[in-house]
Amino acid sequence: MKLIVLSTLLFALTFTQLPAQESSPDTWYRGNTHTHSLWSDGNDFPEMITQWYLKNGYDFMALSDHNILADSERWVSIDSLSKGKKSKEGEITGAMDKYLARYAGTNWVETRDNNGKKEVRLKKLEEYRSLFEKRNKFLIIKAEEITTKFEKKEVHINAVNIQSVIPPLVGKTLRETMRLNLQAVAEQEKSTGEPILAHLNHPNFRWSITAEDLAHVIEEKFFEVYNGHPGINHQGDKTRPGDEKLWDIANTIRLAELKQPPLFAVASDDSHNYHGGKGSPGRGWIMVRAKGLDPKSLITSMRKGDFYASSGIYLNQISWDKKTRKITLVIQADDTNTFTSELIGTRKNYQADAEKGKTGIGEILASKQGKSITFMVPNNVLYARITITSSADHHNPSYQGQKKQAWTQPVGWQ
Ligand SMILES: [Zn+2]
Ligand SMILES: [Zn+2]
Repeated sequence: MKLIVLSTLLFALTFTQLPAQESSPDTWYRGNTHTHSLWSDGNDFPEMITQWYLKNGYDFMALSDHNILADSERWVSIDSLSKGKKSKEGEITGAMDKYLARYAGTNWVETRDNNGKKEVRLKKLEEYRSLFEKRNKFLIIKAEEITTKFEKKEVHINAVNIQSVIPPLVGKTLRETMRLNLQAVAEQEKSTGEPILAHLNHPNFRWSITAEDLAHVIEEKFFEVYNGHPGINHQGDKTRPGDEKLWDIANTIRLAELKQPPLFAVASDDSHNYHGGKGSPGRGWIMVRAKGLDPKSLITSMRKGDFYASSGIYLNQISWDKKTRKITLVIQADDTNTFTSELIGTRKNYQADAEKGKTGIGEILASKQGKSITFMVPNNVLYARITITSSADHHNPSYQGQKKQAWTQPVGWQ
């Protein structure tokens, strides 16, 4: 219900306030593109997870298990699910009990005895999607987290809207490993004619991917500026930049040195734990302004940068006027919280000398308080983007002191 009101409100505001060039009946859709289930290392059944996202106001989701699609016959041991087995985080996984309760009185749940071992069959996407999907209301997108390593560096790339599994590849270097997997995604897109959104995940996980790596693998168009898993070093450390700073460094290198477009950023859950525990759902998502709720429309909009990443803030309006270099946003807000919007960018005369600490990369160009914000993007910047931070604490923080935020895509670079 809330969602319907929200979409209507967004729709109305979008159309009354946007400049005339936006004449199509686009609307905003909320989605999470990074989720794990029992098909890999998540601890719940796909139907239960899908139900969670449907109930919690999402319009679309992608179950993105590691190197697998939910399209084969697969049985898992019930023992590992229902006996209150403790996971690493000390949680008790009651997945089987909840699953049985959810589908009590039906014959949906399939179990078997496999040489004395009780097993349950995981449903394929094609079996369960019709229970949840509804035209223009809720969409499940087929996805995989292509998961590989170069030496000790983790390379995880989400491929969203794939038609068949993409086996992970390893190259002779880290960057070649990133590139080979992205090329495999591009090849499938070409051969099937179906667009695939590829985003590079959690670059700071095990300190695997630097800003320079992100910048130089130009096949990469999207990356996670926020991932809700607590173990991914989102904030960086004393010597290494956090995800947001990585974005600015990578975009500066792309625009100033490589003459390539900047990366766009997504936020996601990377949820694994659905019964308590660290990697829980609902922390990060994207809001996409699209012509319809289908993979092609969503991906087309994202490739144009017509979306933003969020960990709790919604925007009623966002518009960018190339000619006047004016960027305007209206934050959806109650009266109890305050909002700080920072225009962040790199000036063309930034100090690129590593010895001097690369000063001026991703600097705060302007900062404003309030719900309706307009910034003029200066002419002398490579790009500018906005980070909005609420005074409200995050509803389900993945790190200490986390506030609700939203991140808009870089503009002023074309
Ligand atoms: Zn990952
Ligand atoms: Zn993941």
